[in-house]
Amino acid sequence: MNAGRYVFLGPPGAGKGTQADLVADKLGIPHIATGDMLRDEVARGTDLGRQARAIMEAGDLVPDELVIAMLARRLEDADGFILDGFPRTETQAHALDDLLRDRPLDRVVSLDVPDEEIVRRISGRRVCPNGHVYRIPDHPPRNDMVCDVDGLPVEQRPDDREEVVRNRLAVYRRNTEPLIEFYRQRGLLAEVSGVGTIDEIQHRILDVL
Ligand code: AMP
Repeated sequence: MNAGRYVFLGPPGAGKGTQADLVADKLGIPHIATGDMLRDEVARGTDLGRQARAIMEAGDLVPDELVIAMLARRLEDADGFILDGFPRTETQAHALDDLLRDRPLDRVVSLDVPDEEIVRRISGRRVCPNGHVYRIPDHPPRNDMVCDVDGLPVEQRPDDREEVVRNRLAVYRRNTEPLIEFYRQRGLLAEVSGVGTIDEIQHRILDVL
């Protein structure tokens, strides 16, 4: 039983969520995506969801202390995991160290995809309310606009509109990309090309874990 602890880093649209889902299934560990958790808070209209909603729709970052508190609760009962979308700032990276203490990360995978490919991918991205991800035209759901897994309607995320994507990319470059160097210095970083088929990329990731 593999109880590895992994972080998947990469710009929006790099395929982190798709790959984290597949690899987590394969290893039998949970896929923990802070974006999915926050969207769930928004959908349920919780206090946190109400605070996060407008920030997410603008493509900005939800304040560190809110996301860290949310993740701390989720990590309490998780031994192994793949973290997707966290950490996104250096403050979050330090908080993660503190949360994990004597069970440190095993590997940080950085998925690399050029900007023009990101914009192409995100404009075709469709998701169901439970976070299953499709892409038009290369990975559509089997039945027109209905999720293969749970039969719910698939839609474009409000923050996948082009002007918001541009802001999310800028936020990524400014706040999150520096974490690549942060983890490289700790000897945890594996850089993987995120260009290719879903299968090819999955194998590259499994090779470096
Ligand atoms: P994602 O699904 O990972 O693209 O996340 C969607 C949105 O949720 C982001 O654009 C942020 O507004 C917010 N979000 C997700 N994870 C974090 C995080 N670790 N820190 C701050 N904001 C986050």
